[in-house]
Amino acid sequence: MMFMIEKFPTKEHLKKKQDYKDIPMAGKITNAGSSLLNKTGSWRAFRPIHDKAKCINCMICYSFCPEEAIIVEDGKVVGVNLDYCKGCGICAKECPVKAFSMKEESEFGKE
Ligand code: SF4
Ligand code: SF4
Repeated sequence: MMFMIEKFPTKEHLKKKQDYKDIPMAGKITNAGSSLLNKTGSWRAFRPIHDKAKCINCMICYSFCPEEAIIVEDGKVVGVNLDYCKGCGICAKECPVKAFSMKEESEFGKE
């Protein structure tokens, strides 16, 4: 397997000031060209919710999304690929009409 989670940071890790050597190793990508195998959606703590009624299909979110997770069909945003969306919130931050909102992933349970 090319992607490994060795240990997740805990609340204890976040309480005190640390440098990079104190933070536990999270993921490693050891093979180039393997991005489709690494479903970064499993890291997500927040989920973007798209409101089609507000969306003006300007494609700013599509341009900014670092995971190319915005799904576009016939020139319109129709959703988000949750296999690869890592919940960074850039789409919500950049959208000029606030058509994306971020919800805590825990609100959705195990889907
Ligand atoms: S940035 Fe906002 S308005 Fe523009 S396409 Fe994305 S969701 Fe729609
Ligand atoms: S939250 Fe981040 S990764 Fe997910 S769709 Fe928005 S910009 Fe892309």
